[in-house]
Amino acid sequence: MNSLNKVIVDRAALAHNVAVCRRAAGEAELLAMVKADAYGHGMIETARVFSRQGVDAFGVAEAVEGVQLRQAGFTEPILIMAGVIPDTVAAIVEYNLTPVLVDDLTIAQLSFCSGKLGQVTPVYLKMDAGMGRQGFLPEELDRVLGTLENFSSLRLAGILAHFPGADDLANPGPPVVLETFRQTVERLRATLAPGVRFHIANSGGLFYLPGAVFDMVRPGIALYGYYPDGGDGSRTSLTDRLRPAMQYRSRVLQVRDVPGGYPLGYGHTFTTSRPSRIAVLPLGYEDGYSRGLSNRGKVLLRGCFAPVVGRVSMNLTLVDVTDIAGVQTGDQAVLMGTQGEKCITADDIAGWMGSISNEVLCLLGSLNNREYIN
Ligand SMILES: *Cc1c(COP(=O)(O)O)cnc(C)c1O
Repeated sequence: MNSLNKVIVDRAALAHNVAVCRRAAGEAELLAMVKADAYGHGMIETARVFSRQGVDAFGVAEAVEGVQLRQAGFTEPILIMAGVIPDTVAAIVEYNLTPVLVDDLTIAQLSFCSGKLGQVTPVYLKMDAGMGRQGFLPEELDRVLGTLENFSSLRLAGILAHFPGADDLANPGPPVVLETFRQTVERLRATLAPGVRFHIANSGGLFYLPGAVFDMVRPGIALYGYYPDGGDGSRTSLTDRLRPAMQYRSRVLQVRDVPGGYPLGYGHTFTTSRPSRIAVLPLGYEDGYSRGLSNRGKVLLRGCFAPVVGRVSMNLTLVDVTDIAGVQTGDQAVLMGTQGEKCITADDIAGWMGSISNEVLCLLGSLNNREYIN
């Protein structure tokens, strides 16, 4: 049976966004970030689209995600971005995943496991170029590179770093981070094997920071159709725009008329100022429609915006349809996406709930049934 709430993922939009990122990346290779269940779009289905578009590699956070990709048949390099602990080493080697090392705890064990299987496992080093979250400081790199040389079952595949705020040009962090990374590339490139890749650009680096594209780029949010600054892409020099790939739709469960001066829902956080017609939607924070959207969100009904009134509860949400003629039980409600001439984006929802599009996509995508089109 069909659920009333569903997320619709447009494969054509995903493919289009790969093409846009490719053009922005020029000669550099493209690694598609599919962590967090492909930002809520469904990791396996989404990776199939990206693979058909010829992406060069995948990025996930944890080894278990890499194993799922391998078990689904993907043969591209898969980088495990969030680091490795001893428990995951055996699976990483067995499934030919590429660990991104954030410390040297597992180097010996990785080499031992690979050697036992007669393999050479590619490894990346994560460098902390000023992000301040994970990785080796620039001055620690030489020591680790020296250590790696002692393990013949490991091969250095690359060195990567990450930006703290490539989406925010007013923030002086990224240029300093980029400069630190650039100096490291300059210093190490000549001393390392020719195939060793350097990369730092996420979506923000790719679209907004000149000079951030090295051997490979690692967009995430851009592949799903959103610019990391919450904008519409007009700040980039590119003419082709990203296209949001996810919509979220529901159906009206009930329409009811209530008097003026009537308080609505948990906590009575909204009181009608006039006799009102209220549509009840079968969704709430259990579906990823955040409680932060209480009295702030909007949805599309019959091509018009209807404001959320009262608290978003666990699985019911009220919207005011007094000014929209003809709303009835069973009508399609668009929480995110287009209806008629109007559109609600993940950036709109993020703005109402005080977050970023990434979180909106992860929440809605992972907590609802997904349907794929195109
Ligand atoms: C998530 C992630 C990315 C992608 O970031 P976006 O801002 O979504 O493009 C790139 N690199 C690393 C290491 C990441 O963790």
